[in-house]
Amino acid sequence: MTSQPLYKRVLLKASGEALMGGQGFGIDVAVADRIAADIAEVRGLGVEVGVVVGGGNIFRGVAVASKGGDRVTGDHMGMLATVINALALATSLRKLGVDTEVLSAISMPEICQSFSQRAALHHLEKGRVVIFAGGTGNPFFTTDSAAALRAAEMGAEAILKGTQVDGIYSADPKKDPNATRFDTLTHDEVLNKGLAVMDIAAVALARENAIPIVVFSIHEKGAFAKIMVGGGRATIVRD
Ligand code: UDP
Repeated sequence: MTSQPLYKRVLLKASGEALMGGQGFGIDVAVADRIAADIAEVRGLGVEVGVVVGGGNIFRGVAVASKGGDRVTGDHMGMLATVINALALATSLRKLGVDTEVLSAISMPEICQSFSQRAALHHLEKGRVVIFAGGTGNPFFTTDSAAALRAAEMGAEAILKGTQVDGIYSADPKKDPNATRFDTLTHDEVLNKGLAVMDIAAVALARENAIPIVVFSIHEKGAFAKIMVGGGRATIVRD
């Protein structure tokens, strides 16, 4: 471990599920506050942080499509869910005194700023945490793909994918006692082995732009900051 952070700028992907805590739906404010504290700790190290939040704790487009509804409308609902989560996380960060801006891929100027690369870079350079809401702004995508896209646009040195467990396993460790954990993998290995860590489009975009993906447990307090200085438990995906 070093005392200096290994990264200057990173993109954290937090799923909607991460904000749900032990509830079956929605946002557990105590959990949002804890994740915000972890982000604040990393900002305290001087690392610039962008965050993409998912929406699965509130709505997923496939829920509409699976009941015979229009997938595109469902995905619009899912993207709106990510805006709700982004506002919740921004509120938690601001309570801690962390200067935070929400930029949405879908314009809703009364609620938050619209995304542009220039605005994002401006806020990051000012030391603000930037929360990217609205996914990519397009149906048939996921917030994992949004994370890879925004990481590329920001020039982020790594995508930090916060998951339910502390890395990538050969199988779901919650279901398979023989699952083994990887320390490192290449993007190609993740794709070829079909490892369920991020969707294919997201991993492919990260590979094309040579962005490492660090998979860690979003539930372990302080893990984000530890990884920034070379410690913590995680699987690192890089070529
Ligand atoms: N979504 C979308 N386009 C995007 C990102 C998200 O249409 O670029 C919709 C999609 O319906 C998805 C929902 O928003 O199911 C919530 O996003 P996601 O499932 O990625 O959230 P997470 O699983 O990370 O909570």
